[in-house]
Amino acid sequence: MSAPHTTAFTVGLTGGIGSGKSLVADMFAARGATVVDTDAIAHAMTAPHGPAMHRIEAEFGRAYIAADGSMDRARMRELVFTDAGAKRRLEAILHPMIREAANAAAVVAQGAYTIFAVPLLVEAGGWRERVARVLVVDCPEALQVQRVMARNGLSEQQVRAIMANQATREARQAAADDIVDNSGSIDDLGPQVERLHQQYLAFAAKLAAGPIERL
Ligand code: ADP
Repeated sequence: MSAPHTTAFTVGLTGGIGSGKSLVADMFAARGATVVDTDAIAHAMTAPHGPAMHRIEAEFGRAYIAADGSMDRARMRELVFTDAGAKRRLEAILHPMIREAANAAAVVAQGAYTIFAVPLLVEAGGWRERVARVLVVDCPEALQVQRVMARNGLSEQQVRAIMANQATREARQAAADDIVDNSGSIDDLGPQVERLHQQYLAFAAKLAAGPIERL
């Protein structure tokens, strides 16, 4: 029987909006890591008739359910933006479900190691304890603003409002075991990702050779 998954090597990947997380995650995936995208999981949970929808309707009422049975994201965003209690209630439903689904995905992962991509890893709590390394994609705030404005067609004010609800750059840097510096060109990412990937392969091999690897 194979070892429980908790013995396998895992990385938590995070960064502010527009820092380049998705780009960096794709580069690790291309090298053979399994990337578990918690944003995609959260989206699936609240998709039409998704597994969280019963509880969201019970907690918030039909007003927050769109006609297609998905969560009315715009309405919910508006609510949680102004009501911290509602935000906590939504998170109390979603976070454990996301974590469970992420675990399930990691258990069947075939990659050399697993990267959990968690946009709010520093903010959410509970993730740092369950990954072996925290990897932060970092860039100056001005670049985040510029990239998200270009990607999503938002105004600077809108991007800054989102950033104000996220951990500060300093808080993320303080939580990091490893940092990918994305203040340069996309070409500058390759060597950094490659160096970390080699390090992670070595960690994964070391863990796999541990005494409790095969039970
Ligand atoms: P995140 O997932 O952290 O929100 P993305 O990986 O989607 O960020 O990157 C944000 C946007 O900026 C994307 O459109 C991406 O292609 C672009 N981008 C990321 N890094 C760079 C870079 N070094 N140079 C130019 N554009 C970049």
